[in-house]
Amino acid sequence: MSRSNRTSGHPSSPLSRRRFARLAGAAAAVSFVAAPFVARGQAAGRVVVVGGGFGGATAARYLKKAAPELTVRLVEPAARFVTCPYSNLVLGGWRELESISHGYEALRDRWGVELVRDEATAIDTAARRVRLGGGDSLIYDRLVIAPGIALRAPEEGGIEGYDAAAHARMPHAWKAGEQTLLLRRQLEAMPDGGLFVLAAPPNPFRCPPGPYERASLIADYFKREKPRAKILILDSKETFSKQPLFQQAWARFYGDMIEWVSLAADGKVVRVDAASGELETEFGTLHRADVANVVPPQQAAAIARSAGLADASGWCPVDARTFESRLAEGVHVIGDSAIASPMPKSGFAANSQGKTAAAAVIAALSGQGQPQPAWVNTCYSHVAPGYAISVAAVYRAGASGIEAVEGAGGTSPLDWDDANRKLESAYADGWYDSITADMFS
Ligand SMILES: Cc1cc2nc3c(=O)[nH]c(=O)nc-3n(C[C@H](O)[C@H](O)[C@H](O)COP(=O)(O)OP(=O)(O)OC[C@H]3O[C@@H](n4cnc5c(N)ncnc54)[C@H](O)[C@@H]3O)c2cc1C
Repeated sequence: MSRSNRTSGHPSSPLSRRRFARLAGAAAAVSFVAAPFVARGQAAGRVVVVGGGFGGATAARYLKKAAPELTVRLVEPAARFVTCPYSNLVLGGWRELESISHGYEALRDRWGVELVRDEATAIDTAARRVRLGGGDSLIYDRLVIAPGIALRAPEEGGIEGYDAAAHARMPHAWKAGEQTLLLRRQLEAMPDGGLFVLAAPPNPFRCPPGPYERASLIADYFKREKPRAKILILDSKETFSKQPLFQQAWARFYGDMIEWVSLAADGKVVRVDAASGELETEFGTLHRADVANVVPPQQAAAIARSAGLADASGWCPVDARTFESRLAEGVHVIGDSAIASPMPKSGFAANSQGKTAAAAVIAALSGQGQPQPAWVNTCYSHVAPGYAISVAAVYRAGASGIEAVEGAGGTSPLDWDDANRKLESAYADGWYDSITADMFS
């Protein structure tokens, strides 16, 4: 893409209502999981999508799928996206990192998304301009931003001592890729009989069941390779997602290998010393880990905060129907950065929100009324080979924001037999294959 193409022009006029109505009337509306979509049309307008993960890749793909004539530019610095979902399987030695890495070629070649391999360094929401690390700027009519999370630094309400340098000694592995491999290497190097400590974060955070699936799969690895090893989960919460199901399975498969310490029982880690491997809790207890996995408190990614899209909580308030920012017009914030509670910060949720944002952007550019979305979320967790559990829920946009639909969803039953747990593990694999195909094929 030429520099002039990126920087020239002004926000173009919205797609004419008459023309859109004619086109929309010519074909039946296409329905996706998340929201009814407008029909294919000769959409005009420039949409910039920042972040090519679960939210952003989905939004870019569905924007072009529904309105091929939109100019959609996806700003993402990485050549390949490594999914956090299934990264715990890499830690457990069940998968290689390559199998959870995905390229953007189909978005470009099949759907016509313009890939901008760069980082967004500043967003001027008044001028509708995104500045890139390489020096160029992109003008947009509508912006979709899905940059994920940032880990809170010590001075931002994070853990004392857990600064960027400490990430190399005590990996968080809460963004998949190098950090995942680093933690895996540390686990491999840990002696049998060693102590692995996982510091789990307070709410809200990316992937509520993630720390506990991680402990399970690392326990499976230890059971095979280092049966005298111990896992200590120091938690900043009183309870956690799918807790009875996890604890039931831990007792059955791993005996007393995994110990979980709640907030009230002194689980909150307040300080770490990366050099010595020490973690200190709120009440002053010192734990010396052979391998420490520190998952600190979180907030919206830096670019969302610097663009003025976050409130005092560090997360981005949005309109429940459109995911348009409550703080900047023409900007849709989706995925983990957004405040979408009670939806969890999950890849499944971000993917659904990507479709919602795509529909909302097209409706806004065409002057049509906004669709009425509903969403589904299922989070599967592997706990042992051929044994998985899940939690599911259905949501809709209500008068007071996003609401969980009462009576829909729930967790897999505690008394299910092994055949059902095995089915859930197959469903989990199916979910992974289908959602990544929905983003990258
Ligand atoms: C261990 C673990 C396991 C998980 N398992 C599951 C699971 O089984 N199921 C599930 O549904 N969810 C799971 N999740 C949660 C899921 O990974 C996140 O909820 C999801 O990735 C959020 O999508 P997102 O689009 O908000 O952010 P991401 O998917 O993280 O994408 C953000 C993208 O934005 C890019 N970016 C950031 N800043 C900029 C910038 N300035 N300019 C340009 N690009 C930028 C990043 O490079 C990244 O590619 C798991 C998470 C973890 C940590």
